[in-house]
Amino acid sequence: MRAEADYYGRLGVNRNANEAEIKKAFRQKARQLHPDVNKSPNAQEQFQQVSEAYEVLSDPQKRSLYDQFGEAAVKGSGAGGPGFSDFGDFSPFGDIFDTFFGGGGGGGRSRRRDGPQQGDDLRLDLEIDFMKAIFGGDEKITISHLESCGTCEGSGMKPGTKPRTCGTCGGSGVVTQVMRTPIGMIQQQGVCPQCKGNGQIVDEYCGTCSGRGKLQKSKQLMITIPPGVDNGSRLRIRQEGDAGAKGGPPGDLYVFLSVKPSKEFKREGSDIFSNVQVSYIDAILGTEVKVATLDGTIDLKIPAGSQPETVMKVENKGVPILGKKNARGNQFVTVKVAIPTSITREEKEILAQLKSKSNKV
Ligand SMILES: [Zn+2]
Ligand SMILES: [Zn+2]
Repeated sequence: MRAEADYYGRLGVNRNANEAEIKKAFRQKARQLHPDVNKSPNAQEQFQQVSEAYEVLSDPQKRSLYDQFGEAAVKGSGAGGPGFSDFGDFSPFGDIFDTFFGGGGGGGRSRRRDGPQQGDDLRLDLEIDFMKAIFGGDEKITISHLESCGTCEGSGMKPGTKPRTCGTCGGSGVVTQVMRTPIGMIQQQGVCPQCKGNGQIVDEYCGTCSGRGKLQKSKQLMITIPPGVDNGSRLRIRQEGDAGAKGGPPGDLYVFLSVKPSKEFKREGSDIFSNVQVSYIDAILGTEVKVATLDGTIDLKIPAGSQPETVMKVENKGVPILGKKNARGNQFVTVKVAIPTSITREEKEILAQLKSKSNKV
């Protein structure tokens, strides 16, 4: 592992980034660079660089050492600055960071050693039609997630073979080392470099998944959109995230919805807004007009003397309220009064007569 950019630079975060930001940045990078996904020749190395940076920055103690003394303080792979000469005794200490992502082609990417691990949650952004958001419906989606390898049933081992206990750590997966640092001696438990923390050594890996136990697969799913969802609504599809490890359950899939706008309607929460146009004569005399609603056209009475921009409320023609049965918002219809830009000579005469007779403004 060569040192490339500074650890913050590798993750693309600034030096004040908090833990959540670091984690998020790492997950993004890891996804782009994961050898399962990214086949470019440098991906593996970049992936290790990013993992190495994350290993340090996600640990407050190591991060503080790194901030004060730089890479040598946390890496210790031999040639450190003053005070670090002892690191050589603990070879191959420097490989500890390798183990994080299974430099040997073996393990997963977790530091947690024994026991089942739940797979990662995944996010999918989905745009749905205006009306589907309102009344709900089914939507077909295609996702790509990690599935457990069928050949080795997720173990990563060649079928029929067994792992053996690691001699370096005696099967515990952990080794203890003492580091001398400018701030004193630090006893540190590290992942066993021999077995990558598994406590066991696998001699023959599964050929189908190259030992990962998982394969990236794409899959079609039919999901149900409930009535009343809106921009930013999130649906959780259980167990459709990435496969777990060591018998752990898969993560979940989160579908983030965005809604296409409608030409006819504006929506605000559970209310619907629309316009209807009437002539100035109808506004004066009153009329009945056809108004489009979510459920189809209705007849709406416009009272005599309606002013421009009068808002008419149509109850219960809004959006179904999410999670509340039979409850709906309202529709608000704004009356637009059309004033003609040109009129016939006859109309003009009639209006002139009307004007002369009218005592109202
Ligand atoms: Zn396999
Ligand atoms: Zn070991």
